[in-house]
Order: sequence, then structure tokens, then C-alpha cells
Amino acid sequence: MDRAIAATCSERVHDPLASIPIDQMQARPSLPVSDPAAVDGLRRAERLLPTTRQLVATAISELAKTYHLYATPAGRAQVAAAIARVEAVKRVKPDVDARDNASVLLRDPRTIEFGTIFLAGLRSDEAMISVLAHELTHIANGRPESLRPLFFAIARRASLRTGFRIRGQRAEELSCDLVGVIAARDFINETASWEPGPRRLARAFEHNCVDDDTSDEDHLSPRNTIRTLFTLDLKLATEVLEGNSISSSTSLPYGVRRIVDRASERSLRSSSTCEQS
Ligand SMILES: [Zn+2]
Repeated sequence: MDRAIAATCSERVHDPLASIPIDQMQARPSLPVSDPAAVDGLRRAERLLPTTRQLVATAISELAKTYHLYATPAGRAQVAAAIARVEAVKRVKPDVDARDNASVLLRDPRTIEFGTIFLAGLRSDEAMISVLAHELTHIANGRPESLRPLFFAIARRASLRTGFRIRGQRAEELSCDLVGVIAARDFINETASWEPGPRRLARAFEHNCVDDDTSDEDHLSPRNTIRTLFTLDLKLATEVLEGNSISSSTSLPYGVRRIVDRASERSLRSSSTCEQS
């Protein structure tokens, strides 16, 4: 596992399209919407949104099978409703003040808000798909929290395997990250490229290759997130290492729920500790 994490983050150093780690993004000054790198990022996100919707639908469906959510008619109906919400997402909205964060507002479940620093910091299709897929999974869960049983099952397995405490919002965030990396892997499988598979797959994780590895109540630390994702899907770790065939709330007025992925909050909180037992 350590070798897989090291391989992922050292790939970042050599890849011209590598993502910027979120602790470095957080240290940057705000970027206007017109900044060329942010414009490129927005174009990339808009171009990849339709593909990512399909990849997320497939990934959620596969995870629902793996974690036995299709065992009952009610479970099948919940997964179908979740996938229908994903298919309704139509817009990526750039936002200067969101900086290094992306978020969804469940009152407006057709839009993903994307900080301009984050748009500029994800320089590959693989990285963008992993983050778009993460946000789409929040929307899939939606107000009815249709995917709560799936999030609980994923978190339970992850906790057993890592010893990390993964409950509540952390379970949702981890599951969104898992859908994100599965979507990126499926995209790599479906698109021909001259680039090595391990390099492309590493891009789905690289924004978590931080030096300042702190956690908060809602998220595992970035590096522990990479570790937990590899633990949940060992094939990912193998693929990064060996280059085998590359075969993821806050209350608001009016009862609205917004899920913000706060890279900066993660970096700023001093109370965080490594939770490995
Ligand atoms: Zn999130």
C-alpha cells in the first residue's frame, strides 16, 4: 500500500498534466473566471460532464451489486432514483470565491459549482472526471439520501480494513471519492492513449498528494483517502504499481443541504490528527 501511494505521488512530479495538490491550491491567490487556466478547466469540465454522467451511473450500479443493494425491490428503486438524478445534471458553474473547492447545492441539483483555482489545478481529463464524479455522487444521493445504505456499507468495509473512523459525512465523502476513481479507471479503459496507464490512473488521486496531510470531521486526510481507496479496491493499487491493463453537509435556510468539499478547511484545521489505529 505504501509503495502504491508513493508511486502515485511520484508520478505527479514527472507528469506535465499532473494535478496540483489541494494544500498548494489553497495557498494560491484567487483566480478570476477569465484566467486562461480556469477557462481551460471549465471547458474541460463541460466537455467531460456527459461522459462522466454515464461513468457514474455505471460505477454506482456496479458498487450497488458489489455491496448487495440490489437484494430488495426498495434497494433497486433507490439506486434507480439516484442514477436518474445524475442524468439530470447539466451545468458546471465557475466560482472565484469557491477557490479550491467544488460543491453541489441540493436545492439546484442540476449544477456543480467549481472554484476557479480547482478548475485550473486539475489539468487532465482523468483528474477532472474523478472530481466531477465525486460531485455527481453527492447529487445521486440527493435529498432523499438514496445511497445512504451504499455509503454505510463502503465505510464499514473501509473501517474494518484500515482502522480509520469513517462515519456520517465521512462515509459519503469516501464513497464519492471511490466512485470518482472508478469512473476515471473506466474512462481510461474506454479511451485509447499513448500515455502509460499508471500515469493516467495516478491523476485521479494526485490532488490528494499533499504535504500538509490534515483531516476534518467530514473528510479523512487526503493521504489517508488515497490509502483507503486502494484498500477498498486493491486492483487500483496494483494497476498504479505494475501498469497492468487498466481494466468517488451543511444546513442552509429553507432546509437546503449544501455539500462543500473544502480543501482549505482540511488544511486549516489544527485539531486534525492521523487516525490510523
Ligand atoms: Zn464531497
